[in-house]
Amino acid sequence: LTSGLETAWNKLKGEEVLSKENIVEPMRDIRRALLEADVSLPVVRRFVQSVSDQAVGVGVIRGVRPDQQLVKIVHDELVQLMGGEVSELVFAKSGPTVILLAGLQGVGKTTVCAKLANYFKKQGKSCMLVAGDVYRPAAIDQLSILGKQVDVPVYTAGTDVKPSDIAKQGLEEAKKKKIDVVIVDTAGRLQIDKTMMDELKEVKRALNPTEVLLVVDAMTGQEAAALVTTFNLEIGITGAILTKLDGDSRGGAALSVKEVSGKPIKLVGRGERMEDLEPFYPDRMAGRILGMGDVLSFVEKAQEVMRKEDAEELQKKIMSAKFDFNDFLKQTRTVAKMGSVSRVIGMIPGMGKVTPSQIRDAEKNLQNMEAMIEAMTPEEREKPELLAESPVRRKRVALDSGKTEQQVSQLVAQLFQMRVRMKNLMGVMESGSLPTLSN
Ligand code: GDP
Ligand code: MG
Repeated sequence: LTSGLETAWNKLKGEEVLSKENIVEPMRDIRRALLEADVSLPVVRRFVQSVSDQAVGVGVIRGVRPDQQLVKIVHDELVQLMGGEVSELVFAKSGPTVILLAGLQGVGKTTVCAKLANYFKKQGKSCMLVAGDVYRPAAIDQLSILGKQVDVPVYTAGTDVKPSDIAKQGLEEAKKKKIDVVIVDTAGRLQIDKTMMDELKEVKRALNPTEVLLVVDAMTGQEAAALVTTFNLEIGITGAILTKLDGDSRGGAALSVKEVSGKPIKLVGRGERMEDLEPFYPDRMAGRILGMGDVLSFVEKAQEVMRKEDAEELQKKIMSAKFDFNDFLKQTRTVAKMGSVSRVIGMIPGMGKVTPSQIRDAEKNLQNMEAMIEAMTPEEREKPELLAESPVRRKRVALDSGKTEQQVSQLVAQLFQMRVRMKNLMGVMESGSLPTLSN
């Protein structure tokens, strides 16, 4: 998935803005990458449509390349696709919180029971496990052993009692002992069948659980989303736990569960150890899929710094050629806020290699500009023409800021050059004549 998406970004190298035309090919790559990652076709279609719509309307952010912008849009859309926020486990308001686990055979239910107990214990909650898989004595033993391993009591009643009765008895026991969280293991089968569903419904009725979590194996790909949907329709679940994410699954399972079933993934299992269970963070998952943490945080910073009003105001000024030294200052400070000059320069295409002395020069340059602008009167800042017309004013600014007259002249010329460049950038092709400084 990651490498498929990389192809997409690469196709945007050298472009100035995202447009309807230049995103066609990258979007095709993204579509292919998602399909290969086992995301279902309807989900991919909606995804691609939404990303395309946003990409075309996104506009330009200073210093951010179009491919970086697209990475960010795809990332945010992936996060949305996976439910946006973390879906926290719910706890009962009074009495024990009851968690019922369901799922096919071998997906990791019994392991998850113990992992969950371990997880809650670390939060200072007392737990009890209930052995509701009565079909194989080995399953009860397995839960008992795991329970010992994490030092949590396990309620067992052998193989001759109905699962729903065991569940009820276990819950009574937990209430007596004032246990905070009761986790109930159940039997799985190789395939969905009526017997399993009926049994689960009965257990659910007996328990009135706070959470009903379907455990699904990440290796099953888009089948995971179908399973969550079916179990939700049949017995009603509150969420899913995706296991075996440490294996070489393609991540597609995580992507479509929420979109297809309407139920969130709440936790993920990433290994066989008791510690290998964690909340499901859609943004981290998206970040991992894209493998571009740097780009993401950079674009986020740039967006944060350049607030919308700022952008609009600036645009108005540029259109009316009113871009003045106040804007100039704001802009250079924006760059400074975005991180050190070196960091920003490093992100500008074609400027990959900058020497430390170049960076020092650039930073020094910024400081000089600030000093000179600060030495200007408010009027001069708003009307740079005043400085262009008057050598006396330039001399005063030079003296007050401790710079040379030549440096001040350069700065003034630079501002007018910027006005022209920006106007051209905005597509306003007026005659961009540069005023010459009178002497
Ligand atoms: P159950 O039939 O659903 O109860 O599944 P089990 O809990 O017995 O687990 C089946 C196998 O999957 C066991 O060998 C577990 O160690 C393994 N397993 C469970 N969760 C994970 C996981 O997150 N990662 C890996 N690699 N293995 C897991
Ligand atoms: Mg089991």
